[in-house]
Amino acid sequence: MVVIYPGSFDPVTYGHLDIIDRCSKKFDKIVVSVLNNKSKKNLFTIEERVKLLEKVLEKYDNVEVDTFSGLLVDYAKEKNCTTMIRGLRAVSDFEYEMQMALVNKKLEEEIETFFMVARGKYAYLSSSIVKEVAMFGGNISCFVPEIVEIALKEKIKEV
Ligand code: ADP
Repeated sequence: MVVIYPGSFDPVTYGHLDIIDRCSKKFDKIVVSVLNNKSKKNLFTIEERVKLLEKVLEKYDNVEVDTFSGLLVDYAKEKNCTTMIRGLRAVSDFEYEMQMALVNKKLEEEIETFFMVARGKYAYLSSSIVKEVAMFGGNISCFVPEIVEIALKEKIKEV
């Protein structure tokens, strides 16, 4: 079974990586799809986000990194894949995720959204919080792999 794991990944964190690692053992293939949404203000460009993901995921032979823009259901059709993976950290994620899953189902009956519950130790972790800590010079080594940490520090110097 092939699944799509869509998201912004701005940047990828250990929380995302834990979901991907667990999925890699349950599914035949995971397509990690980075959303190219020009209206959303991302710190990293789409190319940078993809490059970081490719580097940190290179050890998996059943994980592919891709990009998409527009509606997830259209992309899913294009990819011939009807199962989406989303992570649930806390109750706060639930409302939005439920809404998205229901809208996607309305748009395309075949689409199924599978939720993976965040591991306790990563339940508080988000790309936004990592960026915030990094902006203030905090230690982010327990939140992201070293290459992401280096890229984030470089990026912060630029902005
Ligand atoms: P988006 O911008 O679409 O919210 P993100 O890049 O933040 O996407 O995350 C992609 C997916 O990964 C979402 O389903 C999100 O809930 C999940 N996710 C993010 N951080 C974690 C984490 N620490 N543990 C588990 N799932 C997570």
